[in-house]
Amino acid sequence: MKRILVTGGAGFVGSHLCERLLNEGNEVICLDNFFTGKKSKIIHLLVNPYFLLVRHDVTHPYFAEVDEIYNLACPASPVHYQLNPIKTVKTSVMGAVNMLGLAKRVKAKILQASSSEVYGDPAVHPQTENYWGNVNPIGVRSCYDEGKRCAESLFVSYHQQNHVKIKIARIFNTYGPKMEPDDGRVVSNFIVQALKGNNITVFGHGKQTRSFQYITDLNEALIRLMNTGPEFTQPVNIGNPVEYTILELAHEIIEITGSKSRIIFKALPEDDPTQRQPDITLAKKHLNHWEPKVALREGLTETIVYFDKYLQGK
Ligand code: NAD
Ligand code: UDP
Repeated sequence: MKRILVTGGAGFVGSHLCERLLNEGNEVICLDNFFTGKKSKIIHLLVNPYFLLVRHDVTHPYFAEVDEIYNLACPASPVHYQLNPIKTVKTSVMGAVNMLGLAKRVKAKILQASSSEVYGDPAVHPQTENYWGNVNPIGVRSCYDEGKRCAESLFVSYHQQNHVKIKIARIFNTYGPKMEPDDGRVVSNFIVQALKGNNITVFGHGKQTRSFQYITDLNEALIRLMNTGPEFTQPVNIGNPVEYTILELAHEIIEITGSKSRIIFKALPEDDPTQRQPDITLAKKHLNHWEPKVALREGLTETIVYFDKYLQGK
């Protein structure tokens, strides 16, 4: 049995990960300040004696004897991370320093939830890990993008200077049950709008692309990455390479829900990346032939069932 710390464990990705790690027979400490996370996502785990929930902000040091750390704490939706950009930078940077310090002291392996946002509005398509990116360092997304880039830099430095055992996952857009209806990201927005019969808000002309990964595929990859040997320290893209325009996503959700919602077009947010598609060659090679298994239609159907129940108060 391993003792595993999951920061941001009450969030969308973290809540699924805590549950899976517990089911696999580990002891899990979930650390969260509940900025975007909710107790309700992990409340069913509280009866498990091997699960510990701690209200804590990663910008402050934390100490526990653990074998592994998944550092997920950071708001992921543009709406939320832009609410308090200073705090977003602090969470990424000070959170990384504090968790790397802990990993160093207790000799734990530590995995950083980095992001495809380190590529910014990419000039290379699809994105490979050796592409350095195209990020506006002073734009509205910079608190998140540069925070994640600085965290990667810290991870590499702690590895080189202090021999900390690091893993860096560059996660591409991920969706699934347990997202919040007011999360603000595109999949949850469109599903909630479609289920309520409200207008579907496509930003810009909807020609921008994203590649959507289902939550179970992401967590399978994160666990496999954590289990790679100590020599594997380079950043690795984790995403589903099938690329859709945002307009195609809207039509898909309208079709599956059978909604009467209309599509309306709204202003494109500043610095919204025009395209995003992961090259997952490295992940396939090093993560034991991992590749995404859940197609968009299947994943959306599951997520729609979840939101339908949520909105009906079930
Ligand atoms: P989320 O917003 O649902 O979860 C983030 C969690 O971190 C929340 O529970 C929140 O309360 C917590 N948190 C935020 N600031 C904190 C702080 N200072 N101290 C302690 N806890 C704090 O987002 P998510 O989708 O679950 O994302 C999880 C991680 O994966 C994030 O680091 C995110 O940047 C990264 N990521 C996610 C995606 C995606 O598409 N879901 C894509 C790329 C990267
Ligand atoms: N988007 C949209 N309507 C919405 C929310 C988002 O058209 O209601 C677009 C957004 O402009 C972006 C894409 O969907 O081009 C993905 O946005 P999201 O916030 O999910 O994540 P991002 O990949 O931009 O971080």
